[in-house]
Amino acid sequence: MNKDTLEQQLYDDEAEIFRNQLATVTDDGKRKWVYPKKPSGRFHRARIVVSAFLLLILILTPFIKVNGHPFMLFDFLNRKFILFGVLFGPHDFHLLVIAMISIIVFVVLFTAVFGRIFCGWACPQTIFMEMVFRKIEYWIEGDSKDQRKLKAAPWTAGKFFKKFSKQMIFFAIAFFISNIFLSYIIGMDELIKIISDPPSEHLQGLFAIIVFSGIFYFVFSNFREQACTIVCPYGRLQGVLLDRDSIVIAYDNVRGEPRRRYKKEEGWDNRGDCIECYQCMEVCPTGIDIRNGIQLECVNCTACIDACDDIMDKINRPRGLIRYASLNSIEKPIRSGSDGKAKWKFTTRAIGYSALLTVLVTVLVILLANRIDFSVTILRTAGLLYQEQPNDRVSNIYDLNMVNKTFNEIPVTLKLVPRTPFGESIEGELKLIGNEIVIKPQGNIDSKFLVILPKNELIKMSTPIDISIYSGDKLIKKVSTSFLAPMKKKDE
Ligand code: SF4
Ligand code: SF4
Repeated sequence: MNKDTLEQQLYDDEAEIFRNQLATVTDDGKRKWVYPKKPSGRFHRARIVVSAFLLLILILTPFIKVNGHPFMLFDFLNRKFILFGVLFGPHDFHLLVIAMISIIVFVVLFTAVFGRIFCGWACPQTIFMEMVFRKIEYWIEGDSKDQRKLKAAPWTAGKFFKKFSKQMIFFAIAFFISNIFLSYIIGMDELIKIISDPPSEHLQGLFAIIVFSGIFYFVFSNFREQACTIVCPYGRLQGVLLDRDSIVIAYDNVRGEPRRRYKKEEGWDNRGDCIECYQCMEVCPTGIDIRNGIQLECVNCTACIDACDDIMDKINRPRGLIRYASLNSIEKPIRSGSDGKAKWKFTTRAIGYSALLTVLVTVLVILLANRIDFSVTILRTAGLLYQEQPNDRVSNIYDLNMVNKTFNEIPVTLKLVPRTPFGESIEGELKLIGNEIVIKPQGNIDSKFLVILPKNELIKMSTPIDISIYSGDKLIKKVSTSFLAPMKKKDE
């Protein structure tokens, strides 16, 4: 390695050193508390509107009912899901698997094209942290400077009041969020029962609410940005999901470098537009310097775009030194005259993901369109051919399995239609073994029944029969199967 290459290598290693550790962890492994400056600007205002809208949807959805049932329910404990008013149960596991795979492929495709837009604009963690809890913190403790001062100040009644009231409000909101999330799992009616009935009647439910509240309180009051940088797998996958054409929040190093403090007498020649004001770092809720390039800590909150645009306005330079852009669109002005603006580019990778997603969604739509509310399986009981019955009759035993995917209880009756090989019906009898059949809502029932036919009508060893399943007068399903009889001797 010659001296220049070695120097360049050392420079690169030095420049990339920030990737070896999290911005919020000190060299000796301790937590660095982040005090981001209050964000403001056009992107922040737009995010407030989007966040308010999404929070409203999140809070109101559990109250929406369709025919007396929740519009959305994710009852993992009982493996019961209601999506847009349609009930899905364990029997729809295959649909769930295809839907999950489709969502994963969609996320991969969306990230490859648009980066982590979801994190900044729609992720519940970011919305609650930045738009609810952080705003309350600013309201009670002031902007970042005041928060630092308060932290360093000795304990007085005033400091105690601020800290205590903030934590109380945080816990109250965490309690509210936990109730909302629980209502998605157990339903709003059940949640109201837990809240209104004596506590002793719903100890399990109350325990769940307290545990959820504790977790949310801990995450938003203490754990904060670490949920994105340490726990969230989506952030950690950015290295493989993004490429140089993905649109991310990026610092335009072509325009910004070489950076240095601005001195009027030097003018703008032989320097970049970045004036080393550090405002982009001051506002960052994850404590990073976006000028170092894409980092796993960046949650695409847009605060640095607003902060830098504000500075650019003040120093009369064009906005967008930090902006939504792909790395290629930033570097190409030099190579191909691109204007450096974010452009939607359909790369080969994106085409591949889109093709896969199209196939998955098509399969899912076909399966959903053909999904029936009531499924029946009728099989002749294994190991039994036929049984001789009095009055020259013969019988077969059948196993019956029925699944009711609706919200209603369904009483059913079975009717038999046996046919000769020439299509004429023959007289027969169907006898249930056991009680009348009533299938509970989202229930599943196993039963057995006998079909008895006159021997002299059975010309062949196998006779086709139809079993019609009725609920009241309504035919809900017709199943075709076969009936086995002894072979007729030649002289019979
Ligand atoms: S806010 Fe803009 S000008 Fe200031 S340090 Fe960051 S990138 Fe440079
Ligand atoms: S780098 Fe910018 S967009 Fe990313 S988290 Fe920090 S402030 Fe938000």
